[in-house]
Amino acid sequence: MGGKNRLMPHASNIVVCDGPDSPHAFDIVPIQPRNGSLDAVCPVCRGHGQWNTEIDLVSFRCKRAICSRCLGAGWVETGNDPVELPDIEMTAEGYPHWVIRQVPGEDMAEQERSDVPLLPPGT
Ligand SMILES: [Zn+2]
Repeated sequence: MGGKNRLMPHASNIVVCDGPDSPHAFDIVPIQPRNGSLDAVCPVCRGHGQWNTEIDLVSFRCKRAICSRCLGAGWVETGNDPVELPDIEMTAEGYPHWVIRQVPGEDMAEQERSDVPLLPPGT
């Protein structure tokens, strides 16, 4: 038996995911709890809200992308119900305060958000 041991002590097996359809896109990504006002599991991320763009199948370190369809909620509105988004507005006195913006559900689907930074967790 002359087989060589090819396992390395610090092996990594990094898989790059092109999107939510990649085989490992949802590895170790939890399903998001449903937000009471939302209707259906997001068709893009299937309720996860985000997916791996890169994952190491040995250490499970990963980089993730936020879903642009549900903005990370994992759930979406169906139909034309407005979606509530938290936002900051300036009052007349010049103080910022939180408001809830109502956005039609259909508009959310058309938003492109490519500016979401990718942060590897746990570093
Ligand atoms: Zn989604």
